[in-house]
Amino acid sequence: MRAICLRAPKDIMIKEVQYPKRKQDEVLVKVKSVGICGSDVGAYMGVNPLVTYPRIIGHEIAGELLEIPEGEKNLRSGDRIIIEPYIYCGKCYPCSINRTNCCENLKVLGVHIDGGFTEYFSHNRKLVHKIPKNIPWEQSPMIEPLVIALHSLNRIKLKKDEHVAIAGAGPIGILIAQAAMYKGAVPILIDFIKERLHLATKLGVEYICNLKEQNPVGMIKDITKGRMAEAVIEASGSSAAIRSSIDYVSYAGRIAFVGWPKEGTLMPTALFTKKELDIRGSRNGGPEFPESIKLIAEGKVNVKALITKTVTMEKLPEALIQQSEHPDNFMKITAII
Ligand SMILES: [Zn+2]
Ligand SMILES: [Zn+2]
Repeated sequence: MRAICLRAPKDIMIKEVQYPKRKQDEVLVKVKSVGICGSDVGAYMGVNPLVTYPRIIGHEIAGELLEIPEGEKNLRSGDRIIIEPYIYCGKCYPCSINRTNCCENLKVLGVHIDGGFTEYFSHNRKLVHKIPKNIPWEQSPMIEPLVIALHSLNRIKLKKDEHVAIAGAGPIGILIAQAAMYKGAVPILIDFIKERLHLATKLGVEYICNLKEQNPVGMIKDITKGRMAEAVIEASGSSAAIRSSIDYVSYAGRIAFVGWPKEGTLMPTALFTKKELDIRGSRNGGPEFPESIKLIAEGKVNVKALITKTVTMEKLPEALIQQSEHPDNFMKITAII
C-alpha cells in the first residue's frame, strides 16, 4: 500500500509501505479521506521541532472500518468513522483527571508517530467515532479541526450573548466564529487577509476587522459599548496577536491561546492582575468529537465553504507544496484516498 512520507524537511514522496497489522484492541480502517493541516505543512517545511523524520504525515483522517476487535459491540465493519489522532498514556496527571488532550506523553499522529496519509490504518478502537452518511467523505476530515475550535470555546466557557474576539481567520478561526454563533455568542473576527474575512462575512459573521484598515481595539470598544470582549481566542500564533489579546479583552474576561507561536511574547502582566483575567491554553480536544460530528451533520457549521480544493492521493504532495508556498491562498485542502 502507499503512504505520503516526508523523508526530510521539504522532501515529500509517495512511498510503498507495509500493510498494517491490526493489534488486538485496534480497528483496521480503509482510509477514505484526509485533510491537510497547518501542522502537516509545518512538518514539510521543517519548522515543527516535535516532528522527527522520516515521517508519514497526516492526522485528519476519515475512513471505513474493515476489521474490528472480537466482542466489539458498538462498531461494525463497514461503519464510517473519523479518527481521534491524539494518543495519550493514561497514566500521567492530566490523563488521571480526564484531560488526555494535554497528556504529558502525548503522541500526535503525523507528528511524533506515523500518521494516516495512507491507504489503510490500524488504530485504537477507543479512538474512533462513527460518522453519519450525510457527511461526504471530502468534508469528513474537517471534524477534527472543528473539535479544536469547540475545545477552545469550552476552555473559555463562552456563553450566549457574549462577545468573542477571535484573532486569525484561518480554518480554525472561522470554525470558532461559526461555532460561537451557533452557541448564541457574537464573534468579532480579526485578520489582515481580505479574502478570509470576506468568506467569514458570507458565512454570517457580522463583525470582521481588517487589521490593514481598522483599529481592532476601537472597533471592539464600539461593538461592546465600551466593555471590550468578554472572551478572546487567539488562533493565529502570531506574537503581535498574542500581545493584543490583552487589549481586546474586558475586565474579568477570559482568553484562550490556541495558536502555536514560534517565539516568546513580552506581555504587560500587570494587566492580567488589573483586569483579573482568566488566561488559558487550549490544545487539541477529545470529548468534543460527538458534538463536532453533530454540528456538521446537521449543517449548523458549514465546513464545505472552507475547503479550497479536494485532490487525489497522487496529487496530495503537490497540493501540500503549493500550500506551503502560498499559505494565504488556501484554507483547507482535503484528499480522497
Ligand atoms: Zn489538524
Ligand atoms: Zn498521559
